[in-house]
Amino acid sequence: MANQSEEKIITFENYYDVMLAHIVRTKLEDNGIPCFISDENTIAANPIYNQAIGGIKLKIFERDLERCRQIMAEEGDMHNLDHIEIDEETNNAVICTYCASTNIGSTDTGKFASILSAVFPFYNNKAWHCFNCQQDFE
Ligand SMILES: [Zn+2]
Repeated sequence: MANQSEEKIITFENYYDVMLAHIVRTKLEDNGIPCFISDENTIAANPIYNQAIGGIKLKIFERDLERCRQIMAEEGDMHNLDHIEIDEETNNAVICTYCASTNIGSTDTGKFASILSAVFPFYNNKAWHCFNCQQDFE
């Protein structure tokens, strides 16, 4: 047993997307690694504040760091899923008008258009798509 005073807690990774933070947390817990999420309540109350504090912090014990990295390496780069879209007109984070998720992709340009057309063959041309509730909105 390690001495209690040696159990240093560190931030494993930061996430902008609450859902992704929970997916990773569940993944680590499934592998027997204790971890917890900080700042979640603050962010749920005000998603724009998310950016100011650098996202949601997933906390682990330092002794588990290598193991956590191995587990996440097996999952591929999940940060592809982690993003916040900024509305160029208002300069605010885009939030789903249906469920308030920040897991939003632009449907008109770049990689999201190709992902969307692959995953959702019938997606329409509205400006934003919510990956949380699958709604499109402007
Ligand atoms: Zn939504």
